[in-house]
Amino acid sequence: MYYNQDSIVFLDGKWIRADEASASMYNQTMHYGNGVFEGIRAYQNADGCNVFKAKEHFERLQYSATKMHIELPYSIEELTHISYELLDKNDLTDAYIRPLVYLGANMSLMPTDEVHVFMAAWKWEKYLGDKPLKVMVSSYQRPNPRSCHVEAKVVGHYTNSILATTEAKKLGYDEALLLDMHGNVAEGSGANFFYEKEGILYTPPAGNILPGITRATVMELAKDLGVHVTEKNFTIDEVYGADHAFFTGTASEIAPIESINGESFKNSWLDSAGHSLYLMYRQKVRFNEYQGLTIV
Ligand code: PMP
Repeated sequence: MYYNQDSIVFLDGKWIRADEASASMYNQTMHYGNGVFEGIRAYQNADGCNVFKAKEHFERLQYSATKMHIELPYSIEELTHISYELLDKNDLTDAYIRPLVYLGANMSLMPTDEVHVFMAAWKWEKYLGDKPLKVMVSSYQRPNPRSCHVEAKVVGHYTNSILATTEAKKLGYDEALLLDMHGNVAEGSGANFFYEKEGILYTPPAGNILPGITRATVMELAKDLGVHVTEKNFTIDEVYGADHAFFTGTASEIAPIESINGESFKNSWLDSAGHSLYLMYRQKVRFNEYQGLTIV
């Protein structure tokens, strides 16, 4: 599904077949979760394709690496260039790109200088699908920001996401909504959360969430649409009285929510600001800020 015998991946400066890529069984990322990654989407356009917000994603990769004491051996420009070359080598335009920075053999609890950079791409449908989602409030909280850098995209943090999604699916829901340690709404297991009430959008502030690049894009688009966005802490009870709600994330784009813990939203998604924002988002992602330029 992610690769076949023709797929080419980037590994430490080399282009190799995906089925030939391998890592040490003693790597620290696998044993202790110290690695960082990104999830990026490319979209086909008239010029070929646009790696949407490449700079922002690779800046976040760099930020996450720095927070975990990992020295990234490539610049943002080099990583951007690698991502375009990766798509080219795999004949992909509409695709999902996964850069992963993992560490070498190390059983200590200190990072190592042996830093590996892997990048792969594959075709991936909208992660949460198109159907409005039945969401449950998770019994798992988002990690306490004093226990880790919750705003960084660190491999080990995703055990929290896996627990929350698995719990939700086992109970017959599509996805989980996690609260923070104070009981306020934080985010989904791999997406940020917005709700709409009386024409205003509300989303939790930075602090207990991964402040997503899609979230920032939606906030910019809302400004263009003339819809006010308020970043504030709120409880789940405030969400129950809302008109609509949706998740935002690179993989899931803008995903409508039908209900939370069985409580349906009042109004139709097609009449919501979220839906208008989704149509705008689909336009924006194709725009290539590098149009006409050769990226080196
Ligand atoms: N929160 C979490 C926990 C995530 O994993 C993601 C996906 N990266 C997001 C939010 C959304 O971030 P983005 O819009 O940058 O993909």
